[in-house]
Amino acid sequence: MVIGVLALQGDFEEHAIVLSRLGAEVREVRAAADLEGLTGLIIPGGESTTITRLLTAYGLLEPLRERIDDGLAVMGTCAGAIVLAQHAAGLDRPGIERMAIRVKRNAFGRQRDSFETDIDIAGIEGGPVHAVFIRAPVIEGVDPPARILASLPDGRVVAARQGNMIALAFHPELTADTRVHAYFLQVASASVAAAPAGLAHHV
Ligand code: GLN
Repeated sequence: MVIGVLALQGDFEEHAIVLSRLGAEVREVRAAADLEGLTGLIIPGGESTTITRLLTAYGLLEPLRERIDDGLAVMGTCAGAIVLAQHAAGLDRPGIERMAIRVKRNAFGRQRDSFETDIDIAGIEGGPVHAVFIRAPVIEGVDPPARILASLPDGRVVAARQGNMIALAFHPELTADTRVHAYFLQVASASVAAAPAGLAHHV
């Protein structure tokens, strides 16, 4: 199973390390040709305005949208979640716009620019996950078929899933806990099993 990590900007190397630890074959994605044969793709944290600018500049935006519409599993973390959202306030360029979520960038304000907390995530066993938030967005709206995976105690949504797409406001790649990435690998491998025969060339 080959998992891509979008490597235009941001902390893609940390994701690659976690995926390798879990036994996945990892490929850095910088061009449309790099999408060939991927089972899943992680869009890392970084700066969403930069990532969206480079997606267009590198000719990746439309190929990525097509692959996601074909069922490619994707997980966006922090800026990556912003890039996946159908609505992202303050984003000056089009993102991938495939998840029925509304995100607010830099939602935690200056005082809580960065913080860490433990959260329960639906579908992840073994107790709460330690979540690192860095100039994080909040998921202000989750419309069907997207659904909430995790919220803060005050009710603000910080993780959502829609089919093979996962959006996280935090950074699971910055702790030693690999459960979130393992969960994504499960989603990705199930998406392959479910792929119609016509899509077999993507597998
Ligand atoms: N604040 C950044 C943005 O709006 C996201 C920060 C992050 O990915 N850690 O893109």
